[in-house]
This record gives sequence, structure tokens and C-alpha cells, in this order.
Amino acid sequence: MYQALYRKYRPKTFDEVVGQEHITSTLKSQVQTGKIGHAYLFTGTRGTGKTSTAKIFAKAINCLNPQMGSPCYKCSVCKSLMDANNVDVIEIDAASNNRVDEIRDIREKVKFMPVNGKYKVYIIDEVHMLTESAFNALLKTLEEPPPHIVFILATTEVHKLPATILSRCMRFDFHLIENQVLIDQLKKIFEAEEINCEEDAYKLIAAAAEGSDRDMLSLADCMVAYCEGNITAQKVMDILGNTSHDIYLKIAESIQKKDIGEAFTVLDKIEHQGKNMNVVAKDMTTTFRNLIIAKTCKDPNQILGFTNDILNLYLNTAKDFDTNELMEDMKIFSSIESEIKFALSPKTLLETAIVTCLTYGNQGKN
Ligand SMILES: [Zn+2]
Repeated sequence: MYQALYRKYRPKTFDEVVGQEHITSTLKSQVQTGKIGHAYLFTGTRGTGKTSTAKIFAKAINCLNPQMGSPCYKCSVCKSLMDANNVDVIEIDAASNNRVDEIRDIREKVKFMPVNGKYKVYIIDEVHMLTESAFNALLKTLEEPPPHIVFILATTEVHKLPATILSRCMRFDFHLIENQVLIDQLKKIFEAEEINCEEDAYKLIAAAAEGSDRDMLSLADCMVAYCEGNITAQKVMDILGNTSHDIYLKIAESIQKKDIGEAFTVLDKIEHQGKNMNVVAKDMTTTFRNLIIAKTCKDPNQILGFTNDILNLYLNTAKDFDTNELMEDMKIFSSIESEIKFALSPKTLLETAIVTCLTYGNQGKN
């Protein structure tokens, strides 16, 4: 029976967590030296390994015989913690609300000692979703944590957390994973699974995952199901069907080069992929916004959060533009966003916008 790659390759040790060595090395050494904190904050984009790392850490600090800082999965404690009904590692999803009541009585429950291991671990996912009263309850516990309690708070939106919580946590920032790291990871998995995959198909799948290991594995599962053991770049493009950064950048580039024919051809191609023209207008505005950031910011990725490969695409395209021209083009595409919903021919409106951008470029030159 086929087991989803997404489940089968979920990391079980720190060394299997992809692309977050700056975090896993610290956690491993904490396990090895026994210097465990009371509260950890894991932040970062979805699918970068926060929850998996939290689960590994929760087991590792309890394991009787850790292997290089990771849980052994063989000792009695590891075995008991692998049971989803264990009471020592408590996972709470703050987004789903169903266990938020538990936060309120955490203060009561933290008094009880762990049943199997040394520590009782609370993993609170999407912690920024907690209500104010739940935050207060959590804060009171963080102020005087009993020695056998460890909190791991995970969030995609760290700016929504109260400063009082932040100041009590050891913070770890999970990064988006580089394209090449994702490609290598996928190659390893497909080789182990004896799945054929074209070189370009690897690149397309990794690029579509946009830095997330989890997204990549879910995409890979789709490809395996659709391609029946032989994954080609063409089939991947058929499934993804989306328009990626480079195709929008191609339009921007044609505008810069005043190549109207090329710009119209690319737009036509996007339409044939079944893309809604309203979305294209919005995406073009975003593309020019990203180009402005790439051109003008010292550390553009602080805002953009792209992998280096994608960032380089933007930096390269931005080089040929002057900033005023980028700003003008952004304004032109943003001005048609509301109009295009009611346009009889949305594509013509987009073409008109392209022509307007070209005209501006000419005036700029004179
Ligand atoms: Zn163990």
C-alpha cells in the first residue's frame, strides 16, 4: 500500500529536519548537556518544520538514551511518548479552539509531575491565536514555571504575541528552505522510493513549494499519484498550472525592453494556462512592488522572504529598471485592478496597461 511521502518522511530526528541546522544544532547540544529552558518560541513560515522540531525536542529531553541529541525511539519513555494518548507531551492547537480551555487550567495541571519522563511538555501551535485570557493564564505560568515543565510555543505570526510572553521565551527563527536543499531532499526520497523524475521536474516541484519542506512533500505526493512512477517536467507543469515568478518577470522584462510583442505573447500564454485575468493584474502589481523592494532595500528578503534563487531573479530584472519607471508601472497595473472585474475584455485592459507602461518609458527617455 502506498504511504503518503508527507507522512513517511516527516522528520523523527534533528538530523532529518531539513534546512534548519542553526536551530537543531543548538537544541541537540541542550539535550546533550541537559541545559533545558522553560519556554521556547519557534517562529517562521508554514511548513518549515516548527511542529516536527517541537515534537522531536519533547521526546529528546525525556529520552533515557538520546542518540546524538535526538530521541532513541527504543527506550520505555520514547515508546510511551509515541502513544498519542500519553499525558506528558500535550499538544494544543490554538487555532482550532477545542483545547484552549486546557490553557486556562494549565496553572492547575502544571503542578502534577510527568508520568513517564523527566519533563511535561506543552506544545502550543499557532499560539498567536490564543485569547487574551488564555495569554494571561499562560503568562502566569511562565512567570513561575515549575522545574518539570517545558513550553514550546509555535507561531507563523510572531508580531501578534504580547511582549510579556516574548521576553520569557528562548526564540528560534525557522527559515524558508533554499531551493537546492529542497531539490536534494526530494532526490533522496524519490531514489529511495524508486520513482523516476526528470531533472527539470525536481526544480519545478521545489520552486512551487516556495521554501517549505511540507508543501514540497504534499506536491510530490500529487505528482506521484498523477504521473504513475514517471514524473516529467511537462506533467508537473500540467498539474501545477499556476503562473510563477519567472513568467511575470518576463512580462516586466519585455516592458523594460519595450518589446510589446514578447509581452503580449507571454500574456497570451498565461491566459491559455487558464489563469484569471483579474488575478494577473493583481500579480503584476505585486511583481512591480517586489521589484521596487529588490531594487531599493538593503536587505530585500527581510520583506520578501523569498529563497535566494527567487530573490536573484528579482534582483537581476530590477537591475535594468530605474526606480521611477518601476513605480510608474506599479501604479498603472494597480489602477486597473478594480476596473478589470467589470471589463468586457479583461485581457485587452491588461494589454492596454502594458502599452501605457511602454509609453511612459518612452517619455522618460525623452
Ligand atoms: Zn529514548
